[in-house]
Amino acid sequence: MVEKKQGKVYLVGAGPGDPKLITVRGIELIAQADVIVNDRLANPILLKAARPDAEIVYVGKASRDHTLPQGEIIKVIIERALEGQMVVRLKGGDPFVFGRGGEEAQALAEAGIDFEVVPGITSAIAAPAYAGIPVTHRSLSASLGIITGHEAAGKPDSDIKWDKISTGLDTLVFLMGIEHLDEIVQALVKNGRAEDTPVALVRWGTHPIQQTVVGTLANIVEVAEQNGITPPAVTIVGDVVRMREAISWFENRPLFGKRIIVTRAESSGDSLSVQLMNLGAQVDEYPVIKFIDPPDFVVVDSAIAELNTFDWIVFTSANGVEWFVRRLFDRGHDVRSLTNIKIAAIGPKTAESVRKMRLKVDYVPTKYVAESVIEEFPENISARKILIPRASEAREELPSGLRGLGAEVVVAPVYQTITDQSSAEPLRERLQARDVDIVTFTSASTVNSFFELADDVDTSQMTAACIGPITAASAGSRGFINIISASEYTIEGLVDSLIGHYSGNGKSL
Ligand code: SAH
Repeated sequence: MVEKKQGKVYLVGAGPGDPKLITVRGIELIAQADVIVNDRLANPILLKAARPDAEIVYVGKASRDHTLPQGEIIKVIIERALEGQMVVRLKGGDPFVFGRGGEEAQALAEAGIDFEVVPGITSAIAAPAYAGIPVTHRSLSASLGIITGHEAAGKPDSDIKWDKISTGLDTLVFLMGIEHLDEIVQALVKNGRAEDTPVALVRWGTHPIQQTVVGTLANIVEVAEQNGITPPAVTIVGDVVRMREAISWFENRPLFGKRIIVTRAESSGDSLSVQLMNLGAQVDEYPVIKFIDPPDFVVVDSAIAELNTFDWIVFTSANGVEWFVRRLFDRGHDVRSLTNIKIAAIGPKTAESVRKMRLKVDYVPTKYVAESVIEEFPENISARKILIPRASEAREELPSGLRGLGAEVVVAPVYQTITDQSSAEPLRERLQARDVDIVTFTSASTVNSFFELADDVDTSQMTAACIGPITAASAGSRGFINIISASEYTIEGLVDSLIGHYSGNGKSL
């Protein structure tokens, strides 16, 4: 019998929370692993990079309640490695900074199992950085200590040399220090650190819910209590804390602290969500609509059969382009059938979809609504034949306006928009928590479906961020009082309006 090859273990630092702060090596190993043994502080979003068939073992530890004792964790890792698996042991921050990574490496070495260590960005440095606190600074701090706050500071046989560190180091960063904050402060003061030394606590650092409070050794315990600071948080002691006033950047982004629901369909939701997150928002995606085949393809198929009789195609959404071209191909045609037809797109996003199909766009109006398409049409369309491939349910303004100019208009449903019922439960749960600040709507149908899923929602404390006037009117008619309407009717325009509205309103220091 061939002996089974032994596996290998990677002790990987997941970084402090912001999923982008993992290393390239770390994410590459997650993507390859057979087994991922995950911690409480490693962001679970990182597991999205794992193979669908990877085994995920959660061994999360909250401050008091240990899910799996350390001995058991080591046992699981060794077992899997002996079975020949590739194991990624994912740990918050850096595996060797109070992560017990040292012990795990030791156990692996003793068991004769091959392993590698992938360092991570530790919360001891990243949480202060995201709070606008450099842990060293040419004129304020020439030394840094990273200290466990886990052991009771008063105990006589403490491993921490309080007499040396209290005044011997400029910046002190305590991890796991919230439960013993009182004793830590007392030990520092007793050992000579000035009572007016600034102290900052950064909770869930680098996460969108990061919270920072500032005080001095004299009052930080009180400040922590008043603000309900609970783990995980780092404690930073030293003059560098003052730098925050000048260089706090993460918490000063325009949408920091805002909780936003994005309602667009999943396939197209990415760019809006990402843009909002990059501005500091905490984004939850609940696609309230989805796209399916139209009730039938009769109209579009007969139009496709006689495409050479049309003068123009007017696309009113990127979806319209995608579904029309798909049907064209399904019917055995390709873009050559469009040779003599001019193409209009209602806005830049739709135009981009047309160009992606390697087709030229002949006309985009200056405002991205039906009314502008009609008013600004670049040629006399009297007696011209126009095809509008679009959703089966849509406003009548465009076809009737074009008919008013004498055109023969064929409206061809190429997809239909329906409410995505699978979002109902998670959406309602989120709304019940009453912590949503903004809901984005990118079409009137997202407004309607949102209320279909959550009909009894109280909108008085929420703001509707709408892509244009039609969507805004829908939101208003459904009870929203606070409405932001984009002045340019695109996703970028929507994001710009949000920035304009909230600039300077980010949480202050
Ligand atoms: N290896 C980890 C530390 C593990 S000890 C690292 O390098 O970051 C766990 C402690 O780390 C927590 O009690 C808390 O003090 C700190 N911590 C981890 N992630 C944090 C975060 N996102 N924000 C604030 N503190 C964090």
